[in-house]
Amino acid sequence: MFFIDPDGMAPIGSLASYGFKDFSDSFAEVERREESESSESSENSENDPPDYFDKDTGEYLGKGDTDEIRFISKKDWNDGKLQNYSRSPNNSKVEAMIYLYYAEKYDLIPQNAKGAMFCCKNINGWSTSHQDGILTFNFERNSIGLGVLNRFDAINVLVHEFGSHGIDHLNGIEYIRGVNDHLWEYRATRAEINHWSWHDTSKTYKIDSYKYYGRYLTKPEIKNFYKKYEADK
Ligand SMILES: [Zn+2]
Repeated sequence: MFFIDPDGMAPIGSLASYGFKDFSDSFAEVERREESESSESSENSENDPPDYFDKDTGEYLGKGDTDEIRFISKKDWNDGKLQNYSRSPNNSKVEAMIYLYYAEKYDLIPQNAKGAMFCCKNINGWSTSHQDGILTFNFERNSIGLGVLNRFDAINVLVHEFGSHGIDHLNGIEYIRGVNDHLWEYRATRAEINHWSWHDTSKTYKIDSYKYYGRYLTKPEIKNFYKKYEADK
């Protein structure tokens, strides 16, 4: 069990009910305490302004004036130089902290998971793996800034991965490529397009989603959720 002091790295707020361990530059992990109380109720974020994070640590700093996820040095943040931001995190540890932040803030770690890990591996896109009740959210380096541009994108990809694949894993459903992968993706894609965050995901995110997951949906679902992006694909 790892309940190590976050050492200033963890996002503020709701991590109080979690242990936290930093494995390496590529990992951020929380372990859910079995007796942990129900987390604070998630804000409905529809009207939230944008989010700024410390580019060196991933610490959440506060809100600015757009919907994007932005990275900035703490000094520039403190000095109000909000124009000195970048769209991509400095390293994979910072990137892991951003996914961890949104997973915690919007309660996107399945209740029956014993823990959650956020990890940058050599993969394209995202995936979810499972071992002994602990879910791992794997992401492609620089997924934030390229495919995930605003917080709704980050929330939505977590809904797909943890909210569908993660729950399937925890329920003991076996993933067999070529046999039931279509159903896995169908469930996950339906989860993401029916989630409240879908409406405000970026155009880039919607186009990617259509490109990779559109084929899993029914024609009426494609018409409802993707049709207007088809011309851009
Ligand atoms: Zn998937």
